[in-house]
Amino acid sequence: MALKGEFSKRTSVKLTTAGLYSFTLTNTGWLGSETLDCMLSDEGMTEPHVIRGLRLKAGEAAVFNEETCRWMWCQGDFFAILGSRDKIEKKWQLRLKAYRPGECPECRGSRRCQGCRGEGVMFNTYAGLSICSRCGGSGVCTTCDIPTRTPHSASGTPHSHRPPAVIQNEINDVQRQIDNIEWGWKMRDIGHSPDVGYALQMEEARLKSALQKRLITLQDELSRAY
Ligand SMILES: [Zn+2]
Ligand SMILES: [Zn+2]
Repeated sequence: MALKGEFSKRTSVKLTTAGLYSFTLTNTGWLGSETLDCMLSDEGMTEPHVIRGLRLKAGEAAVFNEETCRWMWCQGDFFAILGSRDKIEKKWQLRLKAYRPGECPECRGSRRCQGCRGEGVMFNTYAGLSICSRCGGSGVCTTCDIPTRTPHSASGTPHSHRPPAVIQNEINDVQRQIDNIEWGWKMRDIGHSPDVGYALQMEEARLKSALQKRLITLQDELSRAY
């Protein structure tokens, strides 16, 4: 078997850092296809997800992530190739470096995404307003905010180890961004600011709905953080 496995970070993911990681399995062999049984699992194997008869042609790759198979990779999760009697023959584990407070080389402890300075959105003269592709709009630094699981919720929502005050801060941030968008709309309605193009309006509407979803996720996280 000539297989290459690799974890990577996705870009342009919506809303949550939980779906940020992806695993790609490539058949690097030259000789025909491989048919495999494989498994995606959390570290403790409480809820493994088995895929039977995956067929990969020579040079072909399969991608496993939230979008392709609803799997949200968390710290310690692994991808395994199963042999006879489902014995694990080979495995790749997601091991993300966990930084202690203030030690993240990316945000230096601010926990804000450096792609968008924590705003979740970026402004570009040509493209207008768009959701940050580095953090997926959360505004949170994805280098130190690594997804983890509680021992009891394998495929459930990853548990938050963030202190309530930090989550509350982000809630305030998101709320402020929503308020800003609404304020902009109001100003345009009463003619205080110039009209913008249709594309930008659509983008704003999309962004607002993304922010609202993020707000719901955060409220839920807050309720689980106490
Ligand atoms: Zn960002
Ligand atoms: Zn960071």
